[in-house]
Amino acid sequence: MTADAIDLDAWRKLPAAQQPDWPDRAVLDEVVAELSTLPPLVFAGECDQLKERLAAAARGEAFVLQGGDCAETFAGATADAVRNKLKTLLQMAIVLTYAGSVPVVKIGRWAGQFAKPRSKPVEVRDGVELPAYRGDMVNGFEFTAEARTPDPRRLLRAYHSSAVTLNLCRAFTKGGYADLRQVHAWNQDFVAESPAGQRYERLAKEIDKAIQFMHACGADSPEFHTVELYSSHEALILEYDRALTRIDSRTGLPYDVSAHMVWIGERTRQLDGAHVEFFSRIRNPIGVKLGPTTTPEDALALIERLNPHNEPGRLTFITRMGASRIRDVLPTLVEKVASSGANVLWVCDPMHGNTFEAPSGHKTRRVDDIFDEVAGFFEVHRSLGTHPGGIHIEFTGDDVTECIGGGDPIDLSDLSLRYETACDPRLNRSQSLDLAFRVAELYRS
Ligand code: PEP
Ligand code: MN
Repeated sequence: MTADAIDLDAWRKLPAAQQPDWPDRAVLDEVVAELSTLPPLVFAGECDQLKERLAAAARGEAFVLQGGDCAETFAGATADAVRNKLKTLLQMAIVLTYAGSVPVVKIGRWAGQFAKPRSKPVEVRDGVELPAYRGDMVNGFEFTAEARTPDPRRLLRAYHSSAVTLNLCRAFTKGGYADLRQVHAWNQDFVAESPAGQRYERLAKEIDKAIQFMHACGADSPEFHTVELYSSHEALILEYDRALTRIDSRTGLPYDVSAHMVWIGERTRQLDGAHVEFFSRIRNPIGVKLGPTTTPEDALALIERLNPHNEPGRLTFITRMGASRIRDVLPTLVEKVASSGANVLWVCDPMHGNTFEAPSGHKTRRVDDIFDEVAGFFEVHRSLGTHPGGIHIEFTGDDVTECIGGGDPIDLSDLSLRYETACDPRLNRSQSLDLAFRVAELYRS
């Protein structure tokens, strides 16, 4: 296949769900022209490397930890916020690495996660109707006509904000911040200080012993001091991801260089839609979210469209069934896909099937449901002999009060204390670490 033969604009002729109603096409065209000239945020070779890591996870030789905010905001791209998210992700990763005795593939849901699909195109408050907030890449969160009007110039801000976030992450992960002993020391603090943590004292001690043993042996590989970290987002706004798609000079093939991995959401995975068409052309590792109504035929058709050559690591199915349904719906799906011989990585998103509205009006999730869905995911894969390849979560490194429960419990009446998300409720730092230790227990059971 030559680059000339690849039509990166074929999606334009197809229905594209969830796209903004841009008020001014001329401004959009200018923005897209500018984006097309800007440097790549990631390199195609890094995307290929991630594909290899994901192929290993699909074989059961690695485990994926993907997470970050539901919706990043421009204001949230600060050194503190990025550092806290990264720190939490690294802390979770160490626990999972030890428990699973396999490498953990670390993928931030950040540096590009600025656009949201919405169930309703408008929002009504006190009789006033305005366009729904679609993420900082599209419009503003504030409930005013001005903020809610889509502005194509925001695509450029999303690019620059992503560059800032990635730069911080590259600096933190290469500059000593990701040192194994340092990250383990943070986990020890969590175990010592939080009521949730005390349950995990034994596991933390075992990790401590393993680290001391390696140190005593003189083992000191570069992997103890730096980590490989990848970026990902839902490639929802096709104008943005198309403008950042470039032909790789090594291979002559197109890569979306706005992130290492991109995924298609549950609401935009129509087989004859624009997103599936666009994703079929790019060579990044890609994901597709699968909700509880997905049929095995849907899954097989997506495989046919998105990974016709059955390339390992290319396609990840991120299932988000809900704790009450996963044990019923996942088995047939996994079984049919497995018996087709398709190379697919299965990752569990235990967040999006478990959202409900609290009496206070806050969108929330129960930590117990989140954990129960992950447990169901492990059970289903273990009973079928397939691999539970990873988890995909919405979390932040800060002490927000958006999800209910956890070892240091937050209840319904606490939600308003620190509810800061621009979209869906995230696990806070302690709830995330709690989840990592609980998944570690599952891994070892
Ligand atoms: C999301 O990941 O924030 C999201 C909207 O998920 P889904 O497409 O699974 O609903
Ligand atoms: Mn979400």
